[in-house]
Amino acid sequence: TNFESLGVSKQIVATLSELGIETPTPIQSQAIPRLLEGRDLIGLAQTGTGKTAAFGLPLIERLMAEDIRPDNRTTRSLILAPTRELVNQIAANLKSYIKKSPLRINLVVGGVSINKQQQQLERGTDILVATPGRLLDLINRRALSLTTVRFLILDEADQMLDLGFVHDLRKIAKMVPKRRQTMLFSATMPKAIADLAAEFLVDPVKVEV
Ligand code: AMP
Repeated sequence: TNFESLGVSKQIVATLSELGIETPTPIQSQAIPRLLEGRDLIGLAQTGTGKTAAFGLPLIERLMAEDIRPDNRTTRSLILAPTRELVNQIAANLKSYIKKSPLRINLVVGGVSINKQQQQLERGTDILVATPGRLLDLINRRALSLTTVRFLILDEADQMLDLGFVHDLRKIAKMVPKRRQTMLFSATMPKAIADLAAEFLVDPVKVEV
């Protein structure tokens, strides 16, 4: 298979090709067509399997298919990850895929000036990549609202639980409209993750690599 046969547009296929990405990994082959259909998805996958592109490419496709008003951006998608390092990694990955599109990515992580982050968010964003704690800090400051989010992605969900983010995740999920597409990725599937998935996702497709 190739990316085009999975439903990825020519423009993004060309960008991937420039990055040397030609052949989909197993999780990409399984996940991309279902995510383009709009299904919720649970992905059991480790880092290094290409999971970022597995959720990122369909997300980018769906966002690009919508009308973008650069003067009036709303936070249309939210990616949650356990650590600052992973947030940076996800954002760097996605940035390389949207090089030729007007989509904007914003990062929200602890350990850097919250005032600066607040200023950046005022200009609006299409894809927000965040750690849960700092995201809630910004929401509490009214710097950000999640009422326009229609794509919610939880990456390394097991690690987020291990780090004690479960209450934060519940709070955040409550602020995101119910009518949304939700994706949850985890390296392991203990009961706590299955419970979280049952709570946040609707009739999810399951993929395992
Ligand atoms: P991830 O598992 O999402 O952290 O991705 C690991 C690395 O593999 C990233 O640096 C990606 O750029 C790269 N990658 C993702 N998909 C592919 C692919 N289909 N072919 C080659 N490299 C890829």
